[in-house]
Amino acid sequence: MNDKERKIVIVGAGISGLTAAAYLSRKGCNVLLIEKNDKCGGLLNSFKRQGFVFDVGARSIENSGVIRPMLRNLGIELELFESPVSIGIEDKIINILSGEQLSDYKELLEYLYPDSKKDIDKIIRFIERILKDMKVLYGIDNPFFLNLKNNRLFLIKELLPWFLRFVFVIRRINRMQEPVESFLEKMSSNASLIDIISQHFFKNTPVFFALGYFYVYIDYLYPKGGTGQLPKAIEQKIVEWGGKILTETEITKVVPSEKELYDANGDVYSYDNLIWSADLKTLYNILETANLNSNNVPKILEQKEEFQSKRGGDSVFSVMIGVDEPPEKFKSISNGHFFYTPSKKGLGETHRSRLKSLIENFERIPKEEVLEWVDDYCRLTTYEISIPALRDPSLAPKGKTGLIVSFLFEYDLIKKVEEAGWYEEFKKEVENRILKTLDNSIYPRIEEKILFRFSSTPLTISKMAGTSEGGIVGWSYETSVPVVNNLRKMPDSIKTPIPDALQTGQWVYSPAGIPTAVLTGWLAARSIMENSHSGS
Ligand SMILES: Cc1cc2nc3c(=O)[nH]c(=O)nc-3n(C[C@H](O)[C@H](O)[C@H](O)COP(=O)(O)OP(=O)(O)OC[C@H]3O[C@@H](n4cnc5c(N)ncnc54)[C@H](O)[C@@H]3O)c2cc1C
Repeated sequence: MNDKERKIVIVGAGISGLTAAAYLSRKGCNVLLIEKNDKCGGLLNSFKRQGFVFDVGARSIENSGVIRPMLRNLGIELELFESPVSIGIEDKIINILSGEQLSDYKELLEYLYPDSKKDIDKIIRFIERILKDMKVLYGIDNPFFLNLKNNRLFLIKELLPWFLRFVFVIRRINRMQEPVESFLEKMSSNASLIDIISQHFFKNTPVFFALGYFYVYIDYLYPKGGTGQLPKAIEQKIVEWGGKILTETEITKVVPSEKELYDANGDVYSYDNLIWSADLKTLYNILETANLNSNNVPKILEQKEEFQSKRGGDSVFSVMIGVDEPPEKFKSISNGHFFYTPSKKGLGETHRSRLKSLIENFERIPKEEVLEWVDDYCRLTTYEISIPALRDPSLAPKGKTGLIVSFLFEYDLIKKVEEAGWYEEFKKEVENRILKTLDNSIYPRIEEKILFRFSSTPLTISKMAGTSEGGIVGWSYETSVPVVNNLRKMPDSIKTPIPDALQTGQWVYSPAGIPTAVLTGWLAARSIMENSHSGS
């Protein structure tokens, strides 16, 4: 079968499905990309409200040696601004300008915890070591997106020496999978210090990935027009190259024995190759194994059971705010991507035993007590604050500023609230407390300047992108992940036990995020192209 005859159906037009579709349609394949929402992009998206542009998912996009080379390789011109990060704790704020120079962060921690100077020194030295490895990992354009045949000099002078360092670094990373919290506990007995360093990472994030974020902070990019411009630009290329995109079409049944997909209206789509670029629990839930070859079925059922026993990772609560203040006012406080913690005390048991008990006993606990917990959580947690207009002034009406303020939030809690029938009320209560906290700390009198506000919760994310437990970067780290989590084995992450089906995106590799979603999308496209009879 040649490229034109082979029908490739990709389900899920997030960044991963889009990447796969772009490479395959550029190659002249017969591509159909199916998306349940009315637009592409999934968790990487932007939208406009009252003249303000807000980002749905990632507040910036880390290059990781992947995004720029992929865009160049696809011939996509997208203006990308650098997006520096600030970190603030109580009234002290620093700007992260260099991934190797952590002296400002060290000074900040020493100022807050003068009795823990020795511990801080140890921790900072460890982070500096990780940053050197991150530089090897991300500091070079990913060879997947380079045309090495035409660039032999680069191959010999840069790529081969880099590869040797890369292999060494990968080995070291694989030894640094311990959860960041327990790792830091070995370095300090100061619980507040540990919380302040680690509480805005997902629970049990592997230490390498968490502490490596100081490199990510200087690697962030922001597309002109908002993060949603990246999927939009790829979508345009797919259409230009003849790929078809079907939006507002939710796949509700997968029948591999017939190589057919069904949507919610009962319409059928046949395929020669399927790429599943959406939630994996969903795939196995809607998969019909009835007439499959008996060799395939046990592996599929085993895989299904494993996925069902795991959970999506942490999710977020976000409040979008239109503020009647110019961007300069916010620029005098921080950069456009800002991690802010109003109290140096740290979350402590608020997001551990107290949260667990709240969820377990929710039905017996009065509303007031739930809101008391929310009070404490809002005062102690770390906020990720994104200010689109500080990256691109056109993203808010003149003289005004949009803020996206978010923090990690437990899916199970919001689910219980919804079941108890006070979801909308709860959202407003959380918004009020967030605004009060910001008003009392980093943005005095902001409450008086608010033009409008609205919020999204883990339930919004779960419904919008169809992700299990509202997970925003794939599987939870709290138990072992049911997918590949070793960089060297990433090419295996796209394989499934389902005949002629590949998988891509944030659910197929851990730790996940935009760069790995792109890489797995590219790997799936390559796999299909390499197996094509036309030899392309
Ligand atoms: C608030 C937030 C902050 C984030 N911050 C970062 C960050 O700093 N760095 C980073 O790397 N990543 C970050 N992420 C995560 C990142 O955005 C995602 O990991 C990535 O975009 C996932 O891409 P994907 O293509 O794998 O999946 P998705 O974006 O989830 O795309 C899957 C698509 O499939 C569609 N779909 C689902 N089921 C079906 C079906 N049955 N039929 C048809 N279509 C279906 C969905 O609607 C969706 O469009 C963040 C995410 C959020 C929400």
